[in-house]
Amino acid sequence: MSLEALNERVRNDLTFLSYGGSSWVRAKEQAEGHVYDVVIVGGGQSGLGAAFGLLRERISNILIIDENPAGQEGPWETYARMVTLRTPKHLTSIDLGIPSLTFRSWWEAQNGREGWEKLDKIPRGEWMNYLRWYREVLELPMRNEVRLKLIEPAVQADIENGLMDQNSGIYRLHIEGPGTTDNVILARKVVLATGIQGGGEWHVPSMIADRLPKELYAHTSEEIDFERLKGKKIAVLGGGASAFDNASYALASGVQEAHVFVRREQLPSVNPIRQMEQSGMIERFHALPVADKYRVISHFFKYNQPPTNDTFNRAAAWPGFVLHLHSPWLSVEAGERGVLVQTPQGQFRFDYLIISTGLLSDPALRPELGLIEKHIARWSDCYQASQEYRNALLDAHPFLSPGFAMTSRTEQGKPVLHGLFMFNYSALASCGLSASAISGTRAAIPKLVTAIADQLFLDDREDILQQFYTYEDQEFTAVWTPNNVLAE
Ligand SMILES: Cc1cc2nc3c(=O)[nH]c(=O)nc-3n(C[C@H](O)[C@H](O)[C@H](O)COP(=O)(O)OP(=O)(O)OC[C@H]3O[C@@H](n4cnc5c(N)ncnc54)[C@H](O)[C@@H]3O)c2cc1C
Repeated sequence: MSLEALNERVRNDLTFLSYGGSSWVRAKEQAEGHVYDVVIVGGGQSGLGAAFGLLRERISNILIIDENPAGQEGPWETYARMVTLRTPKHLTSIDLGIPSLTFRSWWEAQNGREGWEKLDKIPRGEWMNYLRWYREVLELPMRNEVRLKLIEPAVQADIENGLMDQNSGIYRLHIEGPGTTDNVILARKVVLATGIQGGGEWHVPSMIADRLPKELYAHTSEEIDFERLKGKKIAVLGGGASAFDNASYALASGVQEAHVFVRREQLPSVNPIRQMEQSGMIERFHALPVADKYRVISHFFKYNQPPTNDTFNRAAAWPGFVLHLHSPWLSVEAGERGVLVQTPQGQFRFDYLIISTGLLSDPALRPELGLIEKHIARWSDCYQASQEYRNALLDAHPFLSPGFAMTSRTEQGKPVLHGLFMFNYSALASCGLSASAISGTRAAIPKLVTAIADQLFLDDREDILQQFYTYEDQEFTAVWTPNNVLAE
């Protein structure tokens, strides 16, 4: 089968499912301009899948925006440096149950059944190609090179000036970027599908950020000029897969030595995500009591994912690769020739540091939430964990509804947050795996879509019910006359 034939199959499948049709959501035009029912911020796999889910629910007045050029969304071809995905190839995700939309269908259309059998893990660039195809075949409405700067809820002054209806629950999204001709988009519902750092920021320990000039280090999420590092000696801080991917990438680019420093005495060997994929934990996480949710994610943070065997072996195969276990960095200092790193095992000198120390999730760290973050409930507002499981990183996560809606710390904040959905990495604590891993996507998108659809329906309830009670379109128009009676 060719890709053209697969495209035809997708279109057929969607026709058989009566995909599309006119939207049931009431139009809410404002004096200020067109109002989208839903704007999805972020055109990675979560944003694309959410858009398809909404379209299947006949919520079609929607738009995706993404800050990147078309086809460059997410980490895959920007800063990710691994050769393949970590995810098992057979897991389904944004196909939302339609076989012709799976990665496997797309792969087999080009490489045949045998090609699928031969495939071990999904090559990084091929996952991005699949996402590009998915967006195209589904004709998803997206504007690229548009960045959300700030979410502004409708304010009293707008209502008084007639720009907004009372209780319209409309958000003004302030945007910027080469893809913008306007400065503001209006939306009733906003989904922040902003990815792994979209719930906070990548973390560089202050010991490094405060003491070293920027030309001596980079975080793995940044662009790194490996050409400049040829023949040099570098250190990577962190024990996750990205640390080993970056070490491999650096060595393959001509770096002479890459030393990976890990705090633990042993690298973790158990991957909790593989257990979650088998146990119902991904699909049913939302049903757990709050205390269990906290304990599960606290455990998840503690053990984290190990690097994959191939990632580790690829790095370890280089003669210039060195692993330092039980070696937290105690201090770093810029010297005449690079950086001096102090560990309990001794002092080392490097030309450059690559930091792979994960991220912090907290709405207060996001500039686009500047006007509203004070209202957003965090886990620390809603649940006090026992000392044994307490985790300050987890406490700062937003406390979301099972359908990814933000919840408010106060009554006053409720109308301000009504209509905002957090579908990024920071949803992990409340909703389990979703934007954090492909494994979570399949179960997460329907929950998000249902929550948005329910909210739109309930917001428009009065109007919809009124129309129901006064509905008079005649369906039965046949007329009985005695001549119609069949003779016995
Ligand atoms: C190095 C690396 C490797 C990974 N490998 C795997 C893996 O093998 N398997 C796996 O399951 N997961 C992996 N992940 C996790 C991965 O991030 C997710 O699986 C996937 O990217 C989540 O998709 P997403 O759409 O939620 O977020 P993303 O793919 O990150 O997409 C979010 C998009 O939103 C855009 N955006 C953010 N803020 C704004 C804004 N204000 N305005 C406009 N646009 C904005 C971003 O630029 C981005 O394009 C990896 C992550 C990293 C960092």
